[in-house]
Amino acid sequence: MIIKPRNLPIEIRKLESLQRRLSLKHPQYQHVSDQLGKFKSGHNGEESLDFPLSFLSTQKYRILHNLRLNDGSRFFQLDTLILSPQFLLILEVKNYSGTLTFNTSYNQLIREKDGLEEAFPDPVIQVTRQQEQLQAWMQAQLGFTMMVETLVVFANERTVVKSTENDKETMLRVTNRSALPYRIRELEKKHQHNKKHELKSLSDYLIRANQEIDWDILEKYQIKRTEIKTGVACPKCALIPMLREFRVWACPRCQFKSRDSHLEALKDYYYLISPTISNREARDFLHISSRDIAYWMLRRLGSKSAGRGMRYNLGNLFDYEG
Ligand SMILES: [Zn+2]
Repeated sequence: MIIKPRNLPIEIRKLESLQRRLSLKHPQYQHVSDQLGKFKSGHNGEESLDFPLSFLSTQKYRILHNLRLNDGSRFFQLDTLILSPQFLLILEVKNYSGTLTFNTSYNQLIREKDGLEEAFPDPVIQVTRQQEQLQAWMQAQLGFTMMVETLVVFANERTVVKSTENDKETMLRVTNRSALPYRIRELEKKHQHNKKHELKSLSDYLIRANQEIDWDILEKYQIKRTEIKTGVACPKCALIPMLREFRVWACPRCQFKSRDSHLEALKDYYYLISPTISNREARDFLHISSRDIAYWMLRRLGSKSAGRGMRYNLGNLFDYEG
């Protein structure tokens, strides 16, 4: 049973908004595009686990995606956590292509692809750290720990995985995606005599403890606010800005007309600039001159008076989405 579904990660949403509103000539444009590609590939890898995980008994297992917990001093993030009555299992998903070699004496994963070698941090070490953090978290928050197992899952079926020292220990902790249900069944046998725990309260507690990440993306990529394109984007050809005509947005390039494209622009404002907006800021960002029209667009969002004026809560734009 999936208890906490996987949403499109905030990193991807923010980077998409940023890419849309950055000039192709901006010195950070390529870096932003590359980062977006990296996060999307990771997300696709995680989604590709849905099928093998659908073979698990929904009675026995509870699945939580994208958990971000605080162990007291820092945050740690778990792609997927599977809860069974006898043990917990952390899955760390990697969507790498090419030939991968674990160099366990140097704690690196070397990828060879198209004649190029590239080193990544050893994901087994990474997942071992998560295991320790989760156990410390349970001890501190709940006063007990459970057995925590880990598996690094390579999502790409064509990836070749090797280890330099023929290290069985490491290879036991990695799997490819289609073998995942069988590996979980093996763990089930290994832990069948463990003490049984009540899972509902544990999963409820984990969900309450989850803390979404938020950070200033313009600061992270060193982009000035004045370098962000303002205006409503055309949903058909992506041109910014569309023009406000009588009750509709009109694209001067492809002539597409739309009634509600300002909603997407306000979401970009939310991801890039601020979770709240004033009437004045909305007029500047959407390129409209009428205070009444801006009010009409914002009025359903809910507002709070702050200082001299109202600020509208853009978080409410997402209420109707999954
Ligand atoms: Zn257009």
